Amino acid sequence: MDTIIKDMLDDALFNNICDYDFTKVKELEKSIAKSLNTKWKYVHDVRLKLNYTVVTGKLHNNIRWKTERILTNKAHNYVWYRNSLSGPFEMKCIKCNSIQQFHSKSSLLRVLGYDDKGNVRTKETDEISGKLHYGQKNIGMCSECSRTAKRTPHGPRTAEQIKRMREISVLNQTEYNSVEEWAKAKRKKKDWYDICDRMSKQNLRKYKPDEYKRLMANRWDGTNFETGLTIEHSNPKSVCYKENKLLECVHSDNLKVVTMKENNQLWNEYVKKKIH
Ligand SMILES: [Zn+2]
Repeated sequence: MDTIIKDMLDDALFNNICDYDFTKVKELEKSIAKSLNTKWKYVHDVRLKLNYTVVTGKLHNNIRWKTERILTNKAHNYVWYRNSLSGPFEMKCIKCNSIQQFHSKSSLLRVLGYDDKGNVRTKETDEISGKLHYGQKNIGMCSECSRTAKRTPHGPRTAEQIKRMREISVLNQTEYNSVEEWAKAKRKKKDWYDICDRMSKQNLRKYKPDEYKRLMANRWDGTNFETGLTIEHSNPKSVCYKENKLLECVHSDNLKVVTMKENNQLWNEYVKKKIH
């Protein structure tokens, strides 16, 4: 019996971690006990007697079973246990087949599309919250191939695709049921303005790319009043805010790229028109 248990422990702890489903050594002991129809305590004692304590104790503290499985499956030449404790860790580029080395598991995991804990890194473009997101295009690629992949544009998205992306963001990340409903939510003025600025820029980039390029090449920086460019909203932000018309405000038809000076003039004209 002891030998059988030893073989099973050997197999799980040193050879084929992927074949076993456990997150803690105790779970493994229990599943071995169950399959042998014996008590967990007995299996546990055998493990201690075999002096696997040190090893498993070490594994317990430093190793995440979940990431070990990922690395065993996806890293290059990664043999569980032999490669677990020290690097370098290797990856074979899925595009050019070159071998790339990493000094930490976490950096290799990141390139493979996982975080430190072995969770898949999110890939949705987060247009609504504006939060940073991770590009997943270059998973499994060496740095050279990944640079090339990043340069490859995905081609212009259709208005329909953009609308759909926003809808997905809203549904996944907020309690609202549609972009329209989300846009109408009550917001503090600063939040409303921040979202408005972000979406205006996004819409300009998507629907008026030439204007967007012109803006980015020479932005208003607080000093270049005559030449520095800004986005002007034909129906002004302050008005749209009062009427809570976010989507109307950020619509590309409502956006114009003008110098700060022109922006001021247009505002003055707008105010005059409203008064008369
Ligand atoms: Zn490559």
